[in-house]
Amino acid sequence: MTSKLNHWIDGRSVVPASNEYRVGDNPATGGAGAEVALGNIDDVKAAVASAENAARAWRRFPSAKRGRLLGDLARLMREKNQELAELEIEDTGKPLAVALSEVENSAAYFEFYAGLVNLPVGDVLDVDPDQHIYTRREPFGVIGIITPWNVPMNQAARACAPALAAGNVVVVKPAEASSQTTIALAQLASQVGFPDGTFNVVLGKGSEVGTELVRHPSVRKVAFTGSVAVGQTIGHIAADRVIPLTLELGGKSANIVFEDADLKFAASEAVRAFTTNAGQICSAGTRLLVQRSIHDEFVTAVADIVRELRPGKEVGPMITRDQYQQVQKYFDVANQEGMQAEVGGNLPDDEALRGGFYVNPTVYSNVDNSATLAQEEIFGPVLVAIPFDTEEDAIRIANNSDFGLISAVWTKDISRAFRVSEEIEAGQVFINTWSTGAVQTPFGGHKYSGYGREKGIEALNHYSHLKCVVVAY
Ligand code: NAD
Repeated sequence: MTSKLNHWIDGRSVVPASNEYRVGDNPATGGAGAEVALGNIDDVKAAVASAENAARAWRRFPSAKRGRLLGDLARLMREKNQELAELEIEDTGKPLAVALSEVENSAAYFEFYAGLVNLPVGDVLDVDPDQHIYTRREPFGVIGIITPWNVPMNQAARACAPALAAGNVVVVKPAEASSQTTIALAQLASQVGFPDGTFNVVLGKGSEVGTELVRHPSVRKVAFTGSVAVGQTIGHIAADRVIPLTLELGGKSANIVFEDADLKFAASEAVRAFTTNAGQICSAGTRLLVQRSIHDEFVTAVADIVRELRPGKEVGPMITRDQYQQVQKYFDVANQEGMQAEVGGNLPDDEALRGGFYVNPTVYSNVDNSATLAQEEIFGPVLVAIPFDTEEDAIRIANNSDFGLISAVWTKDISRAFRVSEEIEAGQVFINTWSTGAVQTPFGGHKYSGYGREKGIEALNHYSHLKCVVVAY
């Protein structure tokens, strides 16, 4: 039995105008997955019209009541955590513990922003004795939110919670491969009392529904999480329309280990950094920069931990068939470029996993930073270990990347830790940890990793604009 998924528009389930559905894959088995509505421009128009209708009332909704609704949604998500996790597993094949932690994290966004509905605030500017000048932050109105397939509910919650808290209404376009939990989220929002039209979800292909959402004249800001290529396409449309855009794109994050670090802990965190969500995470630490004096010993320790991770148990499948093929292509490239796999570099030989989109977690050692696998985002559980000699070397190699999302520095020398963290071109730097990043921490990239910030109080500024009011006495 597979689910048949419709849009959620104006507080109700809506059959697509085309009456067409796309049958997805179940990544754990390779069998059929959910049937997802194939939306078109008419569905986008209906969703945006509903949002526009709701926008004025929602903007004027008393902020305390708005906050209560956000909090109620967080509570209901926690109550329904098993159901939500199961839907996520159907779409993505994640292990239950991972899916449950993502539900918790998604609920935490609504809880956090529930307490911040009276932010962002303005300032009083003391300029002229005959004038009272102040600034205030106002919602944009309709926000278009486009999310990828890797951490579906979490990506939707990360954008919707601050957008709604700041007084906007949303139209979300989740990825075709994993739309179920975004629809569930909108349904739960209606259940706790969000007014019809404040939280809409329109399903379908990115090239059709996503593009139309960005093009729609009533959409006043877009928050996009996904690939660089699509980010660039959307960026052109947003530039033509002169609307603000948040781009959360890819990463090739450097995890830098100096010889004086706590190597045991650093090794286990290095593994977590690239195997969480089977490496299908923009913030994965996929370049392990290791001081040459400890390179072999450290990589052996990492590989030993990786050998214990079982696909189908601790490590889930690749979420889409395309991604499964993509990772295998990178294994071929590694072979062509003469790279040495310490562990993995192939598919599991467990018969029970045949059909599912599983790959073995993989570590390549002694890699040059110019190698294809060191420069391109693979979006799978694949780590390249790159030796370095000096601190300057480490910084140069870490920054020699198109991306700049995350980095970590491992050393007991506190001065070095600060020096390196300041030189790294990345939106987040972790020192002696590979943090998963709480909802309170601002998140975003440098370079091709994107611009704008999600999470934390900072996100509220990105979901509102500033007005200055001058009053003459
Ligand atoms: P993708 O760019 O292919 O798709 C993302 C979303 O955009 C999907 O909903 C898709 O349907 C839609 N889309 C596709 N073409 C479109 C178009 N022409 N116009 C409008 N929308 C369109 O990305 P993906 O393959 O789903 O996700 C993987 C990528 O996402 C990776 O590069 C990864 O690094 C990135 N990602 C970034 C973050 C972050 O926070 N920085 C988080 C997760 C994933």
